[in-house]
Amino acid sequence: MIVQTEAHPWQVVIERLQAIVGSDGVVTAPEDLVVYECDGLASYRQKPTIVVLPTTTEQVAAVVQVCDRYSIPFVARGSGTGLSGGALPTENCILIVTSRMNQILEIDLENQRVTVQPGVINAWVTQAVSSDGFYYAPDPSSQIICSIGGNVAENSGGVHCLKYGVTTNHVLGLKFVLPDGEVIDVGGKVPDQPGYDLTGVFVGSEGTLGIATEITLRILKAPEAIHVLLADFTTIEAAGATVSDVIGAGIIPAGMEIMDNISINAVEDVVATNCYPRDAGAVLLIEIDGSEVEVATLSQQVTRLCQQNGARNVTTAIEPEDRLRLWKGRKAAFAAAGRLSPNYFVQDGVIPRTQLTYVLQEIEALSQAYGYQIANVFHAGDGNLHPLILYNEAVPGALAKVEELGGEILKLCVRVGGSISGEHGIGADKRCFMPDMFSAADLETMQWVRHAFNPKELANPGKIFPTPRTCAEAAHSHTHLAQAGVDLF
Ligand SMILES: Cc1cc2nc3c(=O)[nH]c(=O)nc-3n(C[C@H](O)[C@H](O)[C@H](O)COP(=O)(O)OP(=O)(O)OC[C@H]3O[C@@H](n4cnc5c(N)ncnc54)[C@H](O)[C@@H]3O)c2cc1C
Repeated sequence: MIVQTEAHPWQVVIERLQAIVGSDGVVTAPEDLVVYECDGLASYRQKPTIVVLPTTTEQVAAVVQVCDRYSIPFVARGSGTGLSGGALPTENCILIVTSRMNQILEIDLENQRVTVQPGVINAWVTQAVSSDGFYYAPDPSSQIICSIGGNVAENSGGVHCLKYGVTTNHVLGLKFVLPDGEVIDVGGKVPDQPGYDLTGVFVGSEGTLGIATEITLRILKAPEAIHVLLADFTTIEAAGATVSDVIGAGIIPAGMEIMDNISINAVEDVVATNCYPRDAGAVLLIEIDGSEVEVATLSQQVTRLCQQNGARNVTTAIEPEDRLRLWKGRKAAFAAAGRLSPNYFVQDGVIPRTQLTYVLQEIEALSQAYGYQIANVFHAGDGNLHPLILYNEAVPGALAKVEELGGEILKLCVRVGGSISGEHGIGADKRCFMPDMFSAADLETMQWVRHAFNPKELANPGKIFPTPRTCAEAAHSHTHLAQAGVDLF
């Protein structure tokens, strides 16, 4: 049925949105929309038609009801640091940005939980409770800018997730807006609720099941002692073998990270830690936490394992400022890679730790075969690789080649029993690799789940699922708009 409206249909939509969030909460000027046209995966760009900046759950629900009424696709966006194009606007969509939903709603230290709005920045949670001796464990390297809502949607990881688990292990409950505008609560303030684990279903769903508007997080008591060890090796293989030996010895450090020679030199050029030897094949950073006695013992054990694998030096930092100095280079690694070439493409795959040496050699062979240098910085303890492919977008055809190379790396990860994503999600970027990892029946089952929450496919269409289905969705959303009489810009 064609819906006829007197004014331009988008104008009606804009007026409705302004009535909900106020006129300063609705962005439509093309020059203002430019900042929202991509996330951290800047090679994919699409301007949204309208950006809305709500401040409350009620406003998000009312905005989503407008989308449902006019069958307009909508995409949630936190800080836009995602690296898989998850917050990439769909053509003719409304982008719902949570940056004004930035309140910490409740701090309950006795029960070790904090309830936040989704636009709260990851690092703010720890800052809010650290003076009382608590912290929030998941710590993506982007933690000073990425939002908790984005972390939940991507099931983000970080350095400390080796020992403490990724975001899903730290979300107790959620309030979220379903794609028809209804508000529901899942999980709760205590863990292990009966019934289906709908909190677990939502975490990692990349905005395809609705929009989280309140999130209850578990916080942890800060450990009594922390040691950070920096070991340097002549080869990355020796650093990788050490990682396997540490885990094999039954030691689970808080984090274990490897940086290769290219990354070491990039960070030393940019942040000059003067801690990472420029001639090392790789450095291994290991953080050990726990009681004073435990940490002292494990620290000695790990030092021995590093030495047995040929570490030239092992530096141990105990004081907070010394630990920060050792971590500084790792935290700056992605940013520093920007100095190495005009562009870089971050891949994110997981492999069994035991395959580390083989996979790194294969990545080097792919780098040679394609003629693009690859820097490696990764969460080694989790087997979560982040090859950074260095290239120049201005060279015709370079991006396509680099994407192909990135795809070969993902297929390699799957071949050795790993995964096409450790923490950055599938988004728009990796959906075509889903069939390399999942059977048709697996994918169909995931679609049942999506359709149970999002039957009209208005919430973040075109993400996660493979291209043929995605193309169908794109056509589908156009049909919805046409049926609603919405004239496309
Ligand atoms: C330099 C750098 C380092 C990084 N390091 C890491 C790392 O160590 N570990 C890691 O896991 N990631 C890392 N990332 C990736 C990124 O920071 C994370 O994926 C982060 O969780 C994204 O948060 P965001 O607020 O920027 O989300 P956005 O990019 O805005 O959105 C990401 C996804 O979440 C959805 N979304 C956002 N808010 C909501 C909501 N309220 N409800 C439902 N869906 C929502 C969006 O639709 C999209 O699909 C890094 C990125 C950069 C640029």
